[in-house]
Amino acid sequence: MPIITSPDLRRALAERVRYYNELGIYDFYRRETREGLSERVLTAIELDITVNTQPEQREEMAPRKSAAVAKPVDENIFEILNPKPEYGVTDPGAALKLIREDLGDCTRCKLHQQGRKQIVFGVGNPHADLMFVGEGPGADEDAQGEPFVGRAGQLLNNMIKAMGLRREDVYIANVVKCRPPGNRTPERDECDTCSPFLMRQIVVIKPKVIVALGAVAAKNLLAINAPMAQLRGRFYDFMPAGARSSDPSWQGAKLAVTYHPAFLLRDPRQKGEAWKDLQMVMKYLGLKAPKQNV
Ligand code: SF4
Repeated sequence: MPIITSPDLRRALAERVRYYNELGIYDFYRRETREGLSERVLTAIELDITVNTQPEQREEMAPRKSAAVAKPVDENIFEILNPKPEYGVTDPGAALKLIREDLGDCTRCKLHQQGRKQIVFGVGNPHADLMFVGEGPGADEDAQGEPFVGRAGQLLNNMIKAMGLRREDVYIANVVKCRPPGNRTPERDECDTCSPFLMRQIVVIKPKVIVALGAVAAKNLLAINAPMAQLRGRFYDFMPAGARSSDPSWQGAKLAVTYHPAFLLRDPRQKGEAWKDLQMVMKYLGLKAPKQNV
């Protein structure tokens, strides 16, 4: 496959294709090739694209509804142009397996060589109405290969139970799928590299509501750099860009932000606030009020 060596051109094309994706345009068709250009890249150019090599200008645009848009600038243009293997697969469980296979023994970011034992892909009901997203696996999750299985996971289980649900009713994943060393916060490039897989998971699960657990998950999903106090207490319209659904009737999810369970373990006084967030979600989903609080 031809390689684009110019970083500016690669970045500009990636940004432009994402722009078209946000407009709902995903399919690009081949035309005749010219010397020195790949067929697919040429197609992108021939779509009357004005190459913009100043991504900072886009930072000044109006706030996006979703974050899942256009953050990675060093992305392989061919990954955007080529259909993902799960596209058109109507069974969410089968589609998730295809995404997991596509992820493979991932070495896309530096977290693969910083002590991870295994990739923690995600767990739960592929048909879930409710999805929880944390920031990344910790030691317990790394050891067991499942998100939220340690003490924080136990608290999340209690939160889910308090909502009148079981853990197996929801889907749980993280922004990054490999444990950051020492449980440090995942870095921007790591999140940008890994989160497209989370977006694809969201697209095939088609949840009604996503709950971002903690500021890192919220900021990565929403691309809003704000304190938790401002992020919580409302719903956001969330449509993952850069990944498309086979189901045109799915118009995205509502996204709510609450505290990460690990934070609630450190500061249990905030459990009441987290419970307000969950009640907001329950009301939206029409869940029966639980008999006891978290
Ligand atoms: S964190 Fe994600 S992108 Fe990075 S190596 Fe792990 S699976 Fe790959």
